[in-house]
Amino acid sequence: MADLITYDALIIGGGLAGLTCALHLSQANCKVLLVEKHTYPHHKVCGEYVSNEVLQYLKNLGIDPYAKGAKKISKFEMSSKNGAVIQTELPLGGFGISRYSFDNILYEELRKHAEVVFDTVSSVSFSSEIFTVETQNKNRYKAHYVVGAFGKRSNIDINLKRDFIRERSSWLAVKAHYECDFPEDTVALHNFEGGYCGLSKTETNAVNACYLTTYKSFKRVGAIGAFQEQVLSENPYLKDFFSTARLLFDKPLTISQISFQKKEPVTNHIFMIGDSAGLIHPLCGNGMAMAIHAAKLFSELFLSAYKTGHADRSQLEQLYTDIWQKTFSKRLRTGRRIQNMLLRPAATSIGFRIAKVVPALVPNLIKHTHGNVL
Ligand SMILES: Cc1cc2nc3c(=O)[nH]c(=O)nc-3n(C[C@H](O)[C@H](O)[C@H](O)COP(=O)(O)OP(=O)(O)OC[C@H]3O[C@@H](n4cnc5c(N)ncnc54)[C@H](O)[C@@H]3O)c2cc1C
Repeated sequence: MADLITYDALIIGGGLAGLTCALHLSQANCKVLLVEKHTYPHHKVCGEYVSNEVLQYLKNLGIDPYAKGAKKISKFEMSSKNGAVIQTELPLGGFGISRYSFDNILYEELRKHAEVVFDTVSSVSFSSEIFTVETQNKNRYKAHYVVGAFGKRSNIDINLKRDFIRERSSWLAVKAHYECDFPEDTVALHNFEGGYCGLSKTETNAVNACYLTTYKSFKRVGAIGAFQEQVLSENPYLKDFFSTARLLFDKPLTISQISFQKKEPVTNHIFMIGDSAGLIHPLCGNGMAMAIHAAKLFSELFLSAYKTGHADRSQLEQLYTDIWQKTFSKRLRTGRRIQNMLLRPAATSIGFRIAKVVPALVPNLIKHTHGNVL
């Protein structure tokens, strides 16, 4: 062990949270190692609409999604299962970009500044103020701080015996890219029995269709094609989409066991960012911005304490926990409430009627699930 480098920070997971954090810290001259299981680029199950709140911060880090063809999105459209529709301007707007491209842009920038290893972290231990991190390929690394950016559900959550991992989740998600006529300035959210489907354009002009549904609803049909034909297509907008769009993937990507349970921002001295700290309901279209925002919050705290030589670990852990809760807890709660409403047809129908009479309602709800410009 004596000859191992001790990194300032080792980041587990190279999604948006981990990549952003690694970029921020390494640009401030910290010695950073990022460990990610998969090489880039790769597709991910995600709605691929990113709120503009993170745009300026990304630019400060040297990342410009528009230089890679991201679509500027300013309109929101939402329909109920029977086709009642609400259209509104997005208060802040956002951009459409595939995760295939977005994560890769960050990685390409990061590799200029920091070390990235492609391997799966298998264990993390902490002793005498130093972390030891081991991987499936039997590599071993040491670090003063470890950042958990390993997403919604990981083997590390099991190792850490985190509470949420013991409970079965009732959610699964499906995503694919399609060739189809679709306005590039719009993100749409269409409701169906037991879930909702987001549609928006990406940098390649492909339309990303990503839906979240309950096992209960999916199990009644059991196969993706049939589910889209029989359940999603009860909504006339989705019927039109799935009957005309051409699938551009070999087959849709799926993920299961998506948990929206509460998590702790710090576990076993590991600072959690992004979905590792908590996942907002995807209908809010804000998980990616939250992941990037949490990376910024952690990086700023870390730099202000660690690089000035005044790091008190327990104080830093408390400060991060407080700022994470203050920044995100309310959004997560609002997301949960909207989700509950959208999955109850009677409540959705009342909500749509109210929104027709009070057009400011939807932009207001959007504001409550989003943050200010970083
Ligand atoms: C159906 C659905 C639709 C969504 N739509 C949107 C949307 O339109 N807009 C939006 O803003 N958000 C959306 N989100 C949320 C968004 O996808 C997440 O909030 C975001 O991806 C979080 O980024 P992250 O970096 O925390 O996690 P991830 O992007 O999941 O990255 C985690 C990384 O950790 C790696 N990893 C895991 N374990 C290990 C290990 N042991 N060793 C090494 N690496 C490891 C994984 O390979 C992965 O690359 C959606 C989510 C879902 C489920």
